[in-house]
Amino acid sequence: MIPKSHPRYESLMIREKLIRGFERGIVAKAGLIAHGRGEAFDYLLGEKTIPEAMRAIEAAAATLILAKHPVISVNGNVAALVPDEIVELSKLIPAPLEINLFYRTKKRIEKIKKHLEEHGASTVLGITDNLVTIPELFSERRKVDPEGIYKADVVFVPLEDGDRTEALRRMGKIVVTVDLNPMSRTARAANITIVDNIVRAAPLLIKAVKKLKRRPENELMKIVNEFDNDLNLRNVVRYLRERLFQLSKSRMQLM
Ligand code: ATP
Ligand code: MG
Repeated sequence: MIPKSHPRYESLMIREKLIRGFERGIVAKAGLIAHGRGEAFDYLLGEKTIPEAMRAIEAAAATLILAKHPVISVNGNVAALVPDEIVELSKLIPAPLEINLFYRTKKRIEKIKKHLEEHGASTVLGITDNLVTIPELFSERRKVDPEGIYKADVVFVPLEDGDRTEALRRMGKIVVTVDLNPMSRTARAANITIVDNIVRAAPLLIKAVKKLKRRPENELMKIVNEFDNDLNLRNVVRYLRERLFQLSKSRMQLM
């Protein structure tokens, strides 16, 4: 048992969730490693939601509400870390969930589907054999559901790989992502990047969708139009630079 007073308590609990997800066949080995890259950036951010992330969350909520066919893409890490939140978001927007794996095996898909259903999901896409194949540059060709990502105008793909994000953009999709690394190709290729831990961002996105859902369309469009992803990412990097600069001047009090 990790005591709650431990300075890394939250972070260690998140690791535990992923390890359990791995043991249950939901999380891929590479998913564990990808989490490590995310954690390092979270440490630099101070493990909190910064104002730039809040701005992206508002723009993401408005975009998802305005979308005609929004879809939420779920991979192993997302399913293991925020199953309740992703199911709630799916019902709230509403937007179907589609299982979309980099390391795609029938067994993992079945396990993730069952896991999501245990957390209240009713329909889960990306399961059947008649998926559509879209070309990708370097990785395996990806398969998407004709009723889901294939026909979507807006795709929410948290914790996605760069090649796949770029492929979605080439298909003309509006891409919304969550990525702790403001310099990753996914962060830079997406239309809206929430630089925050999915564990903190998902509940905040739910809150934002609830707040904005009944607002008039033109107000939502204003939020979307005023958001500049490139500028926001540069501001995140500036935030990191400033934080490191402050730390370099004073006695190290990290958290
Ligand atoms: P890219 O392919 O976009 O250039 P990458 O190859 O560095 O990035 P991937 O493993 O393809 O990284 O994608 C995983 C991304 O998810 C990483 O950028 C990582 O920082 C991020 N990530 C991992 N865990 C979390 C988390 N809990 N919350 C938010 N982001 C996360
Ligand atoms: Mg990658």
